[in-house]
Amino acid sequence: LVSRDFHPRNTIVKVCGISIGEGKRPVVVAGPCAVEGEEQILKTARAVKKAGADLLRGGAFKPRTGPHTFQGMREEGLKLLAKAREATGLPIVTEVMSPDTVGLVAEYADLLQVGARNMQNFELLKELGRIQKPVLLKRGMSATIEEFLAAAEYILAEGNPHVILCERGIRTFETATRNTLDLAVVPLIREMSHLPVMVDPSHATGKRSLVAPMAKAALVAGAHGVLIEVHPEPDKALSDGPQSLTFHGFDLLMEEIRRLNAFL
Ligand code: PEP
Ligand code: MN
Repeated sequence: LVSRDFHPRNTIVKVCGISIGEGKRPVVVAGPCAVEGEEQILKTARAVKKAGADLLRGGAFKPRTGPHTFQGMREEGLKLLAKAREATGLPIVTEVMSPDTVGLVAEYADLLQVGARNMQNFELLKELGRIQKPVLLKRGMSATIEEFLAAAEYILAEGNPHVILCERGIRTFETATRNTLDLAVVPLIREMSHLPVMVDPSHATGKRSLVAPMAKAALVAGAHGVLIEVHPEPDKALSDGPQSLTFHGFDLLMEEIRRLNAFL
């Protein structure tokens, strides 16, 4: 179902009237790694909206590597995201980690994210296949393209065709960057599949200074959008501060993306 042989034309996924997968302007999803409080998410939502972002991201259920770190505000975080949407009009993207919370997260989210660590949580994928809300499926950090597309297939096979794929870097021998951004998958997936493809240069690099260059490279490679972590005070962020852009850094990136769009 995900193959281009089966469906030659590009799939366009609509999130609250925003089209993702069209040949036109790529979309920008921006926001903090995690919702940390009302002021933090509202401030960030207003700043990224002003800079020109299309959607607001923010984790409420966080898949942290260790259990002793901030695990997210859960339902309270979802409520704050809804408040930020009300304040700015930006649709919200947030992660869902388990099949039993799909209903809850879907009540608030406009686009449900499956994180890299859950790419092969097959029961979660099946549950997401049974709703009609769009899904942003991140590539597992050690997943091949075949496995990535097979994970998307699970969602489509249950009846939900609204899936966006997202490259977020993979594990390699290199340790200087958090992950290795596999940019060639963007044109490759576009050859193999009709689904939209986005890139997350924040998790792919783990390093603030590399985010803008890799975001631009992703768009030139044909990505339908980028996911950018932005925080009011990255040094104080409860997760992923080192890779989060400041408001000013995000303004500069948006200005560069606008100039780049003229050539895409
Ligand atoms: C995130 O988007 O904050 C996240 C946890 O991403 P990933 O699943 O790609 O690591
Ligand atoms: Mn993060």
